[in-house]
Amino acid sequence: MNTSQERRLKKILALPTAPFRENAVTAYATEFCGRSRIPCFNDPAGNVIVGAKDRAAYRTIARGTAREPLRLFIAHTDHPGFHGLERLGRNRFKAIWHGGSPVKHLRGARVWIADQAGYQGHGEITSAKIHKAGYAITELTIRAADPGILERPAKSLFGGFGFRAPVWQSGERIYTKAADDLVGVFAILETALALKKARSRRPFLGLLTRGEEVGFVGAVAHFELGWLPPGKKQPMCVSVETSRTLPGAIIGKGPVVRLGDRRTVFDPAGLSVLTELAARLLPGKHQRRIMDGGVCEAAAATAWGLPAIGISVPLGNYHNQGFEGGADCRGPQGPAPEFVHADDVSGLLRLCRGLMEPRLGWDDAWRTTRARLAKNSRRYRREFA
Ligand SMILES: [Zn+2]
Repeated sequence: MNTSQERRLKKILALPTAPFRENAVTAYATEFCGRSRIPCFNDPAGNVIVGAKDRAAYRTIARGTAREPLRLFIAHTDHPGFHGLERLGRNRFKAIWHGGSPVKHLRGARVWIADQAGYQGHGEITSAKIHKAGYAITELTIRAADPGILERPAKSLFGGFGFRAPVWQSGERIYTKAADDLVGVFAILETALALKKARSRRPFLGLLTRGEEVGFVGAVAHFELGWLPPGKKQPMCVSVETSRTLPGAIIGKGPVVRLGDRRTVFDPAGLSVLTELAARLLPGKHQRRIMDGGVCEAAAATAWGLPAIGISVPLGNYHNQGFEGGADCRGPQGPAPEFVHADDVSGLLRLCRGLMEPRLGWDDAWRTTRARLAKNSRRYRREFA
């Protein structure tokens, strides 16, 4: 990343977002595209489509070129968080949680509070109910630091876990209230910008979705539109995510060629292209594994019959759960800032751009493997005798 890319990344990471309360992020994406003269528009669900100015342009690009499939890059604009529900007295309100969350050390934990206009202040959790399966908060009460915040209806408020700042850096680690999946949004916008600067006409679209954390709601709404062509003209969907760090997917060792998630493995031919690309562009500086710490939008695409692959950036303290601990963590499984490594994000940008190279062999992804195996097989043929 150069310094202006780092600045843009931090700007996105600082934006408030929660499921269905993504407007600061979608507004940023729209403004970024406008400034960079990249066409974009909203689909009927409010997902942002990057790289086409309207539905007609989308359909033309979606058919791909004669030789190359559309690469449809997908990232989500939300992050687990709460929606205000009702005011309780002078300075407290009840809220509903959406998505994953820490489940310990919650009382007294700091939260940021925003409305459609942006950040409005902060508060702390006074009580929280946990889902009976034990994996996340369902309901909580929050005491606002400034009671003035409740002059507006509680239902207009939303928020998430807050820390010393929305984003800060320590060495190569970038800490934030939410890297998942704002890093993915950043990578797709930067890819669009790089293609724009190169005057590329290759088939690219970005799909920045809403409500991913509660079951890919934006992505599913988009797939249900039926805008993507079936059969031989199918796109290659590329999920761009941050994913819970796992053995073999270590923070700082490079982006991960994501072979699958907790739900399914991904498209073998597409993964063969991505694997060869990563070996060429990031030798020794990428990782490769099934990231089964969570499910991603590539699984949703697969369920809708679309070939899909994934790239992940290893994520510390996934969904603000203190798995890795560190700065501002309130204890094991307690609230903690998410963090990513700057080099992993740089590697992600290289892979995203690389996937837009011409002649990657999407139509016959196993050609090199087949040639190598055939050559080896001929060497041993006399052993059959
Ligand atoms: Zn995510």
